[in-house]
Amino acid sequence: MEKIKIPLKCQCSQVQGYVHTKPQDGNNVVCFCDDCQAFAQFLGNPQNVLTENNGTELFQITPNKLKLTQGKNNLACMQLSPKGLKRWYTSCCKTPVANTMNGKIAFNGIIQKFIDFDALDISKQDAIGEVSDYCMSRFAKGELPENSHPKYPLGITIKIFKMILLGYVFKTYRPNEFFSEETGEPVIAPVVLTKEQRDEIMIKVNMLSDED
Ligand SMILES: [Zn+2]
Ligand SMILES: [Zn+2]
Repeated sequence: MEKIKIPLKCQCSQVQGYVHTKPQDGNNVVCFCDDCQAFAQFLGNPQNVLTENNGTELFQITPNKLKLTQGKNNLACMQLSPKGLKRWYTSCCKTPVANTMNGKIAFNGIIQKFIDFDALDISKQDAIGEVSDYCMSRFAKGELPENSHPKYPLGITIKIFKMILLGYVFKTYRPNEFFSEETGEPVIAPVVLTKEQRDEIMIKVNMLSDED
């Protein structure tokens, strides 16, 4: 299959870019884990980010496929804890952007809310493929797809591992919109939640999962 350009845009359109990839080179997955839900809570409008099952729709790719073309100064970064994923969003309109590890790890989990599917002239499915895995469904609510997995299925774990390992060899962690090539540091210093802030958000996460 040919490479395609998948447009990226925050809700208020200030931050834009694209992913240049073959659909099969990314993983279309849904993560129900409580950390992803906590990130949605942190952004202030979880219903807008999460699926009806409290899942976060992700498209996992290597960083070299992602390019921001405007509004990069509106990028912001947070961590739920000092060792947590670096989670990126836009400061202009609180659109979730991507989950990352560090500058040498060839893994970006783009949050699909940042993908401008309306601007595509092909279907969402043709652009990013079908959902391959529903992960961490023990944190989900409501009726779930049959292939949901309570933890991380082995298949997706291996795929991500392969992406990262090949990333070391082929240096697909660069160019990288989120980490400086010289220093390996995030382009914006992440805000790390305190334990109290995290606990407060987790209370909201648990309340959301109890709702019917
Ligand atoms: Zn915006
Ligand atoms: Zn998650």
